[in-house]
Amino acid sequence: MRPVPEDLLAAIRSRSCAVLATHVNPDGDALGSLFGLADILRGMGRNVLCFLEDPVPRLYRFLPGSERVVTDIDQVRRFAEKAAGDILSVSLDCGDQQRLGGSGRILAAIHPFAVIDHHRGNNGFGDLAWIEPDRSSTGEMIFDLARALGREITPDCATCLYTAIVTDTGSFRYDSTSSHTFAVAGELVALGVRPDVMADRLFDNYSVGRLRLLQRVLATLELYDNNRIAVIRVTEEMLRATGATMEDTENFINLPRAVHTVQVAVFLKEKGEIVSVSLRAKGGCDVSRVAARFGGGGHRNASGFRVPGHGLDAVRDMLIPVLEKELGQSP
Ligand code: 5GP
Ligand code: MN
Repeated sequence: MRPVPEDLLAAIRSRSCAVLATHVNPDGDALGSLFGLADILRGMGRNVLCFLEDPVPRLYRFLPGSERVVTDIDQVRRFAEKAAGDILSVSLDCGDQQRLGGSGRILAAIHPFAVIDHHRGNNGFGDLAWIEPDRSSTGEMIFDLARALGREITPDCATCLYTAIVTDTGSFRYDSTSSHTFAVAGELVALGVRPDVMADRLFDNYSVGRLRLLQRVLATLELYDNNRIAVIRVTEEMLRATGATMEDTENFINLPRAVHTVQVAVFLKEKGEIVSVSLRAKGGCDVSRVAARFGGGGHRNASGFRVPGHGLDAVRDMLIPVLEKELGQSP
């Protein structure tokens, strides 16, 4: 674990305005670290703008600060112009600039452009980078950043950072969960976060449509390689039939992953002309290498990629042999 780089601290201390953004299809860590950092900077009297391409997913609208998100890129442009150089931009939880979507170009045009992230494959974009691949979450890093800046964590910020950590560790289960992760989570609980309330909000918050969708998605289960690879899928037709949304599929992949023989779970999602693929591994298999083969990326145990112009079956047929080979090579 590296200490927070001095140049990053200096950039934050010396600027009065900040534009913050994160990856497209933001998850709990993306949003928790975004709003957590926004709260810290606002506490320092900074003028902060959080940009997202799309509105905050319903599940995360309870996060303090989510109501202030800007989705109009022109507003970011005007904000940056008004700041007249007294500004920095920050990319959170994002391993490559492309995954920032529309915000990528805007952030990169503001200097200094700081990158705070924990993706192993982070390709080192930005002017200043603090990349910690062994960290559980970007939220955990933001906690340390607050400490390095000499800032107290507010209850609102604690809610955001706890959300980041508990979602990105699969409720403290992935191998990225360290003693430091627990120490940070412990401090957040000491600050008033209620793990039971957070679990209710984040994990026991299903709609009936979501349960009906789960029923259909699990019915698509296929097993390969002596039950070491499990594949499930969701189609747009299933969403229509159940009234659920793609957001409702979050965490479905953990069910096939939980089968004791399964080393890799695959979730194929039909999104118009694109097939979006999620991979989750346990044991020695490194699925970030597999995702990278298909132009994606991520972490050892959780990665993803997108394929345009092929159907779900075709993507599965391309993927299975690559996974079998990776499993054959893993310890
Ligand atoms: P998910 O399966 O939840 O969409 O993604 C799991 C992880 O894989 C994400 O946290 C992210 O690190 C990575 N990931 C997913 N899709 C992509 C992609 O298209 N490109 C890259 N570079 N990483 C991805
Ligand atoms: Mn993350």
